[in-house]
Amino acid sequence: MPSPTASHVVIFPFMAQGHTLPLLDLSKALSLQQIKVTIITTPSNAKSIAKCVPNHLDIHLHEIPFPTVDGLPKGCENTSQLPSLEFLLPFLHATKQLQKPFEEVLETMIKSNTPPLCVISDFFLGFTLASCQALGVPRLVFHGMSALSMAIIKSSWVNASQINSLSMLDPVDLPGMKLPFTLTKADLPAETLNSSNHDDPMSQFIGEVGWADVNSWGIIINSFEELEKDHISFFESFYMNGAKAWCLGPLFLCDKIEGLERSINQNQNPSMSTQWLDEQSTPDSVIYVSFGTQADVSDSRLDEVAFGLEESGVPFVWVVRSKAWSLPGGMEEKIKDRGLIVSEWVDQRQILSHRAIGGFLSHCGWNSVLESVVAGVPILAWPMIAEQSLNAKLIVDGLGAGLSVKRVQNQGSEILVSRQAISEGVKELIGGQKGRSARERAEALGRVARRAVQKDGSSHDTLSKLIDHLRAY
Ligand code: UDP
Ligand code: UDP
Repeated sequence: MPSPTASHVVIFPFMAQGHTLPLLDLSKALSLQQIKVTIITTPSNAKSIAKCVPNHLDIHLHEIPFPTVDGLPKGCENTSQLPSLEFLLPFLHATKQLQKPFEEVLETMIKSNTPPLCVISDFFLGFTLASCQALGVPRLVFHGMSALSMAIIKSSWVNASQINSLSMLDPVDLPGMKLPFTLTKADLPAETLNSSNHDDPMSQFIGEVGWADVNSWGIIINSFEELEKDHISFFESFYMNGAKAWCLGPLFLCDKIEGLERSINQNQNPSMSTQWLDEQSTPDSVIYVSFGTQADVSDSRLDEVAFGLEESGVPFVWVVRSKAWSLPGGMEEKIKDRGLIVSEWVDQRQILSHRAIGGFLSHCGWNSVLESVVAGVPILAWPMIAEQSLNAKLIVDGLGAGLSVKRVQNQGSEILVSRQAISEGVKELIGGQKGRSARERAEALGRVARRAVQKDGSSHDTLSKLIDHLRAY
């Protein structure tokens, strides 16, 4: 058995912010447990990751080249660099070409004096399973979702034929699942609804990586047991070899342990958004608006958000990713003393923890949901893609820590959100009774989440158990 100081873990994140960031947090948590970590990634991702890794930790980056492929713009090594989501599938296929260089790196590591205990691979990098199996290294898979969402998705695949016969707003019954909300067909991710269409290329890809997933040694979950306990064993039942699901989250809190957070942030100047928030004197008075790094938000939707925020009269910080969009005419003058629009990367966790922030108009990406509850900030949910509707239902109906923005489905089955709906939702969240009770629920849930990562907390204990288990394997 290797000595504790010689233990080594390899992490291979998928190249999307929402997938890489939690695995960086996990790297820090492992490093604080005296584990050497090697992160495998491509050159441009390595450059941005390096900036986030404190150099006193035993975390190393190993670069492998990103392939050049037809149909993918040159230099796109991260999904947030893709011109639109249409390029996601070619991007996913391109990552398969990382298998050979990955295997070469892994082989060299196995022969070194610190062979890896395991590989922690993103779900989308399904090819790592074959390499790990060939080289005899356990593969732990990371999805970046809650256990509840994953269980719903897996169960929906199994029950696809029944679900296909339903209409969009019919409730979906998943045998064996204790759902904390009423699930409708419309809440399921598009890939899941297409799963029985074997000609759909995205479903084919998901089927492929899904097979690797269920044949993995274990699963790492960025969530905490207190939230997931009703779903874990049902979720594990989809795995073939007795794989265990390890709830280690919220992962971004793990690096708060032992003062690490302070050492990273020490030299940072206050950002523009923090300075602006410092000037807002009323606690819980500002709405933070962001739709994450993946969803394509059209110009007309952005216009509605601008009008809705203006109409609400509520102060806001709004992160807009689109480079092409500009404020509708006359709007700048109207909102200039009341809102801040930011187009660069912000420190979202820092914004959410500012006392002036009273709510989050969010797409409900899982990381954003976790970050919001940990900060005790209620959510105004506007889910857009992937499993975001499931996260929204959990936070609003299941946990009572948010409200939903009113969405209308038009005849072309497009989901529309009007400026009135945005304005009303924002006003209720920040100033209304429903918003106040959602805030109390978010604060209570945040306390549970923080306890989970502290000494003797569920996630903290599970991480120690996982390390012991791997060392003994
Ligand atoms: N919660 C949960 N599962 C648990 C414990 C808590 O889902 O096992 C959620 C639930 O939404 C609850 C909230 O966390 O309302 C706060 O829980 P609790 O009242 O125990 O937190 P405290 O107020 O003690 O910090
Ligand atoms: N994020 C950030 N600053 C930004 C935009 C995003 O810090 O300007 C972070 C955010 O805090 C979260 C992640 O990026 O940790 C986005 O992940 P999420 O699951 O919320 O959504 P996705 O981008 O995957 O849709």
